[in-house]
Amino acid sequence: MNEPLKIKGIVVNAANWGDNDKMLTALTKEKGVITIAAKGVKSLKNKNAPSAAPLCYSDFVLKKSGDAYSLVSADVIESFYALREDVINLSYGVYFAQLAAFSVGRDNFAEDEIRLLLNSLYMLCKYPERRDVLKCAFELKLCEYAGFAPYMESCSCGEEGVYFDVSSGEMVCPIHRTEHSRKLSPYAVKVFQYVQNADLKETLTFDVDTSISNEVSLLTEEFLSHQLGRLPKGLEYIKKINI
Ligand SMILES: [Zn+2]
Repeated sequence: MNEPLKIKGIVVNAANWGDNDKMLTALTKEKGVITIAAKGVKSLKNKNAPSAAPLCYSDFVLKKSGDAYSLVSADVIESFYALREDVINLSYGVYFAQLAAFSVGRDNFAEDEIRLLLNSLYMLCKYPERRDVLKCAFELKLCEYAGFAPYMESCSCGEEGVYFDVSSGEMVCPIHRTEHSRKLSPYAVKVFQYVQNADLKETLTFDVDTSISNEVSLLTEEFLSHQLGRLPKGLEYIKKINI
């Protein structure tokens, strides 16, 4: 029997599909990234329409159809509506969701990533002025949850590491630096180390000058790009609006 699946998920992407429908990409705890055909949700009168918005976190009831699911019903748990009132905040939120989805993929358990994403979106709603520091914290914690936390101690030869290698995620000394090694400030090293030892709450509330968080973010983006093979489109948009 094809029993309906009850699952909580956050909409990462909502693509238009025909005149009335949307194809949703959602991140779920139990099944990682899933695709949901959501019929009729382009009409605002449709009772499931609120759940088909980007970043909306909902209780979904789904039916399996091939590789995808079709939407039976949905109830909003948290809409993160405040993010949709400002295009810049929304773009940060969408980037967070896209990056979490990239790192999880399909058919993987994503409890930590969902918790990180939901808490980060909550903080972004509450403290939008901290979005760049939040971005830095989100990216670093995601590396850890995805199983490739940077190693921020000495170089493997025992010498002091003064460069961060964005390919291996390790600190290296001047002798063992490669084309992928980037110089980083002592403050940036402290941020990497702080987040590694911090729990989720400490990670999302730590305070640092934006110039430092941006330095860490640039390195983390490059490192994530090496690990994941690509970065979400949402990052390009953030770069454009920050010029
Ligand atoms: Zn070395």
